[in-house]
Amino acid sequence: MKTLQELTRPNIWRLKPYSSARDEYKGVTASVFLDANENPYNTPHNRYPDPMQWELKGLLAKVKGVAPERIFLGNGSDEAIDLVFRAFCEPGRDNVVAIDPTYGMYQVCADVNDVEYRKVLLDEHFQFSADKLLAAADERTKLIFVCSPNNPTGNDLDRAEIEKLITSFEGLVILDEAYNDFSEQPSFLRQLDRYPNLIVLQTFSKAWGCAGIRLGMAFASADIIGLLSKIKYPYNVNQLTQNEAIGMLHKYYEIERWVTTLKTERERLEQKFRELPCTVELFPSNANFFLARMTDAVGIYNYLVGKGIIVRNRHTVSLCCNCLRVTVGTRLENDKLLQALQLYQA
Ligand SMILES: *Cc1c(COP(=O)(O)O)cnc(C)c1O
Repeated sequence: MKTLQELTRPNIWRLKPYSSARDEYKGVTASVFLDANENPYNTPHNRYPDPMQWELKGLLAKVKGVAPERIFLGNGSDEAIDLVFRAFCEPGRDNVVAIDPTYGMYQVCADVNDVEYRKVLLDEHFQFSADKLLAAADERTKLIFVCSPNNPTGNDLDRAEIEKLITSFEGLVILDEAYNDFSEQPSFLRQLDRYPNLIVLQTFSKAWGCAGIRLGMAFASADIIGLLSKIKYPYNVNQLTQNEAIGMLHKYYEIERWVTTLKTERERLEQKFRELPCTVELFPSNANFFLARMTDAVGIYNYLVGKGIIVRNRHTVSLCCNCLRVTVGTRLENDKLLQALQLYQA
């Protein structure tokens, strides 16, 4: 790996961050707070939240087995994705490499930040080759994005290839584990100590059932986390979100039940899909959704919309011609989808 300083944009490396009132006084003994121009009324919403979210990070550290200094929390993982571009990629000069197809936000953030986005096509089993990604990289490649289980394909990426990529690449590897809770593959969080160039992304939006509170996590070396924290908005995670997440962490057993139910329900839904006349091919999934090739994805998508059932049309995505991406819902919702599809006439 290059040094972190070599990988970081010089202006970001030199940046002296904004220092908020809550940064400057961190003690707990004070009882009169006249430092932040807050309104003394309307407790508890009148106070600024903890800019570094230490209580929440302390609880997460226990659940994830990662030290609090190695955790970044943001307004969804999307914030962390945007911040890695802003921290490491010089607009108009640097580039990033990513598997294709994958989650759309990597490219959107690349485009917003005027960073060249190089796509490397997956193979017919939706697997990637570390050598191909590395061949697409050059001196100015700062980041490589992989996503496992991948969206929209649903499959785990090959673990040995991910390890090979991390150990061979000179820059940073962003591994998006948004769907890891649904997979039998262990998270790469265990390997964080071994790989100083690894950033793992996870989210409260999927298994944790909290897409509405907007909370994403990035795990990396304390130095990388320090850089991201330096450039984030001072109060990027609001108090309501922090409170709700703390509440969720106290009932992790609930999440385990949801995950088990959704995995069972996915298998049932997949089995029924295989029997549908309008299904051409079903791709193996390790997530809470699956990708299916249909006889006519656009026609079926529109037919379902007419019945008030929305799935994701992925017809125009690389390698996903005539594919729909189906999220696993409740048993009742899934049955409504199946019923509608059984009645579909081309
Ligand atoms: C849903 C999803 C996310 C979650 O993004 P948030 O901003 O945390 O809601 C991240 N990565 C992938 C691949 C996803 O599919």
